[in-house]
Amino acid sequence: MNTTRTRHTSRPGADALRRLAEDAGRDLEDAPALEILRWAADTFGPRFCVTSSMEDAVVAHLASRVLPGVDVVFLDTGYHFPETIGTRDAVAAVMDVNVVTLTPRQTVAEQDAEYGPRLHDRDPDLCCALRKVGPLRAGLEKYDAWATGLRRDESPTRANTPVVGWDEKRGKVKVSPIARWTQDDVDRYVDEHGVLTNPLLMDGYPSIGCAPCTRRVSEGEDARAGRWSGRAKTECGLHG
Ligand code: SF4
Repeated sequence: MNTTRTRHTSRPGADALRRLAEDAGRDLEDAPALEILRWAADTFGPRFCVTSSMEDAVVAHLASRVLPGVDVVFLDTGYHFPETIGTRDAVAAVMDVNVVTLTPRQTVAEQDAEYGPRLHDRDPDLCCALRKVGPLRAGLEKYDAWATGLRRDESPTRANTPVVGWDEKRGKVKVSPIARWTQDDVDRYVDEHGVLTNPLLMDGYPSIGCAPCTRRVSEGEDARAGRWSGRAKTECGLHG
């Protein structure tokens, strides 16, 4: 493996980060998830974090094996299911990670007062921009690289997800160590390592977001069919 590494004592500029991402995406395409994360930990050290929706803690668990105490960033939109908040709290209590909770500038009540109630029904793109995209951009400022749990098999929009890529929108290296995994791979890892999962996964929700924008899916439906159901929207803008 001839992947470029840098010492994480100095902070590279955007051009250097982009080259790192492009080289690593090519060199690590066939590498196991742990090796991809080890490269990220060695290269970025504390300027690397994992983001988690608390659907499961698979990527957080993998990352903690190569970077104990790794920051796990969770976006608390104010609209989560109680089970999701419970999963976040359990991850913080039992895993060797540092859970970092990001919150929007406004509470739900403050947003309702300014934009009217149920903005998620009338303008979900604006709601996601206010409660997800903006807070994540601000929260990722101190990092050079972030890891996600994106998988190519989740939806057509994710079919070309690189294992390491360049996040143009935020000027960060974006690491997707389980991009090549299938749902069976995830289930096997959860079973083998006793990884925490959101109880809603066993209750008809294969993909879990904010409560007002997530429904159960029926047998045979796409895993993400329950997200913004009935609308053209398929992504919240975090991964676009
Ligand atoms: Fe708002 Fe729904 Fe987006 Fe959550 S998923 S931020 S409730 S529009």
